[in-house]
Amino acid sequence: MATCEKLAKCPFYQGKMSMETGLGSMYKQKYCEGDKTTCARYMIATKLGPDYVTNSIYPNMTEMALKMIEKNQK
Ligand code: SF4
Repeated sequence: MATCEKLAKCPFYQGKMSMETGLGSMYKQKYCEGDKTTCARYMIATKLGPDYVTNSIYPNMTEMALKMIEKNQK
């Protein structure tokens, strides 16, 4: 599986978001270097645009992402 093209700029991947020990690298493996299409940040960025992706959104927040997309999509 290809790595996410947003790696270089994504605050999550760049370690600019605080996270619990251990979980960060697990998420990076699962989403950033695994399946980016299931990443909440990626989903929101591609459906609504990068402005919607705040630093409080973590890759595993898919349920919230789906709700947010549903609410904001025209
Ligand atoms: S957190 Fe999501 S958007 Fe950011 S680099 Fe990883 S897969 Fe891509």
